[in-house]
Amino acid sequence: MDEQKFLKDEEYYKYRYDLQTVIESLKLYWDLRRGLDAKRDQLKDMTQEQFDDQSNRAASYATNAFKTEKFSHRAETIKKWMDSDRKLQEKYDLAIPPRNVLCKECGSPTKVASKDLLDTLNDDSQVLFMFTCTKCKKNQAFYEDGTEWVYKPPLCPECNSQLNRKNKNKKGILTTTYTCTNCSYTNSEIYDFKKSKQEREERDAWEKKIFEENKDFFCYNDENGPRAVADMEHFTESFKWIEEEQKKNNDPLIQKARQLKTLKALQLKDLIQKTIEVERYVDLQFGKPEIGQFVIIDFTVNDSKEGRSDYDSSNTLKKLIKFVLEDTNWRLMSDGISCRLGILSGRLKAYEREEDLTKLVEK
Ligand SMILES: [Zn+2]
Ligand SMILES: [Zn+2]
Repeated sequence: MDEQKFLKDEEYYKYRYDLQTVIESLKLYWDLRRGLDAKRDQLKDMTQEQFDDQSNRAASYATNAFKTEKFSHRAETIKKWMDSDRKLQEKYDLAIPPRNVLCKECGSPTKVASKDLLDTLNDDSQVLFMFTCTKCKKNQAFYEDGTEWVYKPPLCPECNSQLNRKNKNKKGILTTTYTCTNCSYTNSEIYDFKKSKQEREERDAWEKKIFEENKDFFCYNDENGPRAVADMEHFTESFKWIEEEQKKNNDPLIQKARQLKTLKALQLKDLIQKTIEVERYVDLQFGKPEIGQFVIIDFTVNDSKEGRSDYDSSNTLKKLIKFVLEDTNWRLMSDGISCRLGILSGRLKAYEREEDLTKLVEK
């Protein structure tokens, strides 16, 4: 009995993957070259040599990116292929034939003549066992779950009656003849084992040749591949960065955010002091800054103007501070300013990241 073999050596999958890379890379390269050749007329000033050189560079650049991309998926794809074949292999190997199958004709014991996993692309594919009677040689087939396989004869396209099927194998050529049980319809299908085997061998040889000639050029290995992938990622990142910078340069909000003055705490203190002393606020003190996602600083200041109510005092100070901070990266926090006995206090918050600054100018 021929055993089915689904899972192969890792080398087999590596070869299939690398062969695919070679064939796809060659196709990409020559498609690009042909595409550029079609535009040759538009570049009449170039000599043929210059043109060939330029189009080789352009096509090589794209092909190089492609082969790097292919390598980056190599290990993961090979693993996926192997996992999938391993699953089929296990399904096949672990299938147990239904027991005590007796011949339908003569009741004699039978033995398993073949075992096949059908419909491998389907997730609930099953193994089918063929049983042959040890005495009269009659065949029956059962799936591993015990369901009998029932032959459904094809139907005649002329009269819809059942067709009889007859196989004839002569010198590697299988001829299957269908004849209608009712009318005169008959049809033959020929399958040439020898010819298809030869075609397969020719294709294998062609693939092997193409592969050997090009593998060093198009296929990275575990030594030089990771480096190429890292370089490519780095390059793509830089490219993205440039694109993003360009986008930012065209965004009016970001432009506005970039014009905000970034002040150090001491500069901030100085600026506020100068602004508020006009209104007779004195002795500005900054507390210990709180350094988290944002820098936050408490402040206190004394009102030295006689007769000003706490309410008026805090309102005036609030207006002054808001005004002077408008074109800086600092803001008075929303809890505002409180005032008791002429002592005013509040909190200031610094914005540093570009996205926070942008939100600031958006308000
Ligand atoms: Zn029998
Ligand atoms: Zn018919």
